[in-house]
Amino acid sequence: MIFKQIDSGGDRNFAYLIGDAATKEAILIDPSPDTEAVSEAIESSGLELKYLINTHYHYDHSSGNECFKVSKKGNPVKLINCSKEIEIKDEYTLKLGEIEIRLIPTPGHTPDSICIKAENKLITGDTLFVGKIGGTYNKKEAESEFESLKKLMLLSPDTEIWPGHNYGTRPSSTIKDEINDNPFIKRLSNFSDFLWLKENWAAYKKEHGLV
Ligand SMILES: [Zn+2]
Repeated sequence: MIFKQIDSGGDRNFAYLIGDAATKEAILIDPSPDTEAVSEAIESSGLELKYLINTHYHYDHSSGNECFKVSKKGNPVKLINCSKEIEIKDEYTLKLGEIEIRLIPTPGHTPDSICIKAENKLITGDTLFVGKIGGTYNKKEAESEFESLKKLMLLSPDTEIWPGHNYGTRPSSTIKDEINDNPFIKRLSNFSDFLWLKENWAAYKKEHGLV
């Protein structure tokens, strides 16, 4: 499997490119906002886009979609999740050559948030960052996010975490490290504790010297 994390500008955004080395087919994830950087990464990879997937609809992840609707060879690229073409309500699997790609619904940050699992790599969008989690606006969304994160923590501890923004101390992590270090993940046994931390995050960060 070919895997690239792409610095895509904006607010330390990351786009991702996943390719099958044998067939050269590729999936592009969240190609925004810096479409130039994303185009260069595709160009140097020699891969042919087959699918374009958004982890969620937010503009900083999806504004570049228009630039990647057609592959280098002129074939249409199938848009997943951010259009009604394929909407992810239940877990959905697609094949990229021999690689199985799992699309896992993880509502919370937005109702349409998904995580994408390819081999032992999990692309988490704005659901889970290194040491942090995605923002929510109300208790109902926080409850959804709480359940989604609990579901993700059932994955194998060596699963790698590849977030939608470089907000942590390093650009990627593992389920095991998040269980040990992420203060929100440590509170997944009790929703009140989890919600308390969301509501007091600014003060908590200051008190613990986090950035
Ligand atoms: Zn977002």
